[in-house]
Amino acid sequence: MELQAVVDEIVHEVQPMLGEGAVASYIPSLGQVPAGNFGMCVAMSDGPVCGAGQWQDPFSIQSISKVFSLALVMSYDYDSIWKRVFREPSGTPFNSMLQLEADNGIPRNPFINAGALVVTDRLLTLTGDAAGSVRGLLRKESGNPAIDFDDEVAASEAQHGHRNYAMAHLLASYGNLENPVELVLENYFKQCSLRMSCEDLAAASRFLARHGVSAGGTPFLSPNQSKRINAVMLTCGTYDAAGEFAYRVGLPGKSGVGGGIVAIVPGRCAVTVWGPALGPNGNSVAGIAALDAFTTRTGWSIF
Ligand code: GLU
Repeated sequence: MELQAVVDEIVHEVQPMLGEGAVASYIPSLGQVPAGNFGMCVAMSDGPVCGAGQWQDPFSIQSISKVFSLALVMSYDYDSIWKRVFREPSGTPFNSMLQLEADNGIPRNPFINAGALVVTDRLLTLTGDAAGSVRGLLRKESGNPAIDFDDEVAASEAQHGHRNYAMAHLLASYGNLENPVELVLENYFKQCSLRMSCEDLAAASRFLARHGVSAGGTPFLSPNQSKRINAVMLTCGTYDAAGEFAYRVGLPGKSGVGGGIVAIVPGRCAVTVWGPALGPNGNSVAGIAALDAFTTRTGWSIF
């Protein structure tokens, strides 16, 4: 199988789909990204990389950053975060607050916003600079020191982030934040605003395909921790469409409202796609179609 040819074909095939769905506009700066962009990259765990389309153009990674903040917290703290966050699919939208009160301030999982705020809060306690730590990890694992925050996107989200403010205050009211609400949100908005290409993101995610081994060849996470993060990605990584994603793609994955998705084939590779137009559950329409085609064609699924 010629992997480059497979990726080229898939990127060609999804072109007619690029108009489907809508670019996220609840963060006004994100709404300006053209819906017709599309890129895809495969980074093999042993080094080779191939990509097609706009795979080297940076985009806002948004919720994909939640995978890296969780990985960092687990690397410092092993599993104590699970006292403050569950690991069950929520079946509700990523920014829903419905369950948070019923569950006494314990978010359903680390990939919905409430859970990610708790993880960022913990990372802030552990490092003093949660967003900076996530950026540092991404720079190191991708080998690209130019990866940075998009201040305009972060400010745009802060201005319109009423639900996230409400959620953070609700968490604080249950004693599930260790740091001031403002500081947690500032770090959360910054980590979500990080701009990366499919190429950088695939390289930076490779440790999850290498059982926790970092780009430098040393263990960043234990194989067990890497397995657990992949498991939570599979069950909770694509909002309230995680069942549909598992059915169609058959891999652990994490999406973001910037239109990116990272998927992991444990032991083999990390695959990233980017198409800004989102379906009703907030996942890239063309991105899911491309990942579906990828696992169907290569047979590289966990099932
Ligand atoms: N920063 C976004 C928010 O909190 C992230 C959402 C996402 O990508 O799912 O609304």
